[in-house]
Amino acid sequence: MQPKPTPKIVAIDGPSASGKGTLAKALARELGFAYLDTGAVYRLVAKTILEQGLDPENKDQAIKAATHVRDSFTLPQLDDPALRQDTVAQATSKSSAHPEVRALLMDIQRGFAAKGGHAGAVLDGRDIGTVVCPDAAFKLFVTASPEIRAQRRFKELQNKGFTTTYEAVLQDMRERDARDSGRSAAPLKPAEDAVLFDTSDLTADKALEKALHLVRQSLG
Ligand code: C5P
Repeated sequence: MQPKPTPKIVAIDGPSASGKGTLAKALARELGFAYLDTGAVYRLVAKTILEQGLDPENKDQAIKAATHVRDSFTLPQLDDPALRQDTVAQATSKSSAHPEVRALLMDIQRGFAAKGGHAGAVLDGRDIGTVVCPDAAFKLFVTASPEIRAQRRFKELQNKGFTTTYEAVLQDMRERDARDSGRSAAPLKPAEDAVLFDTSDLTADKALEKALHLVRQSLG
C-alpha cells in the first residue's frame, strides 16, 4: 500500500483586518484545501474567560480556560458569532500572550494541519509560519497600513449596526497590534521565508488572484 501523501500546508499570517482571513478562506476554497482560522481558537479561550468573569491577563485563569477549550474543542465552535465581538478581540490579545496558553492550543492547530483526508490545509493567524508550521510549503505575510485596516474594520462594524468611530477603531487596532507584536511568546512577525503581501491597494478579488498565482507557482 502507498503511504498517504503529507498534506501541503499554506501558512497565512498578518495583523488584524489585513485581509488575511478573507484571503485564506478563499485560497483554501480555490485549492480544495481545509481551512483553519487559528485566531478563532484563541478567541474561544478569551470568550470562556469573559463568560466566567475572569481576567485574561491572569495567567492561571487563562490556563484554566485554555485547558477547557483544548479538552472540549470541536470545529463548529469556531462559527459562534459572539467570537467576533470587539471585547473578545481585545481580551484575546491579552490571554494569547501567555506562553502556556499558546502551548495548550498547539495540538489543535498542528493536528488540523496534519489531518489526512484532504490534499492540504490553509491556516491563518499570527505565528503559523514561524512557530505552528515552520515547515509549511508556502508562507504569506499579509499586511496593509493601519489606516486602511482601521477603515476596513470601521466599515465592517458599521454594516453590522455597531456605533463606533473611525478614531476609536484605529486606537483599538494600534493597541492590539502593539500587544501582538510586542509579546515575548510567538510575536507577530514574518517568517524569514515568507512572501510579504501588501493588500492596501488591492480589492479582495485582486488579492486572491495575485495570492493564488504565488501559491500555485510555489506548490507546483
Ligand atoms: O485573527 P484574529 O484577529 O481573529 O485574532 C485574534 C487575536 O488572537 C489576535 O489579536 C492575537 O492576539 C491572537 N492570535 C494569536 N495567534 C494566532 C492567531 C491569533 O496570538 N495564531
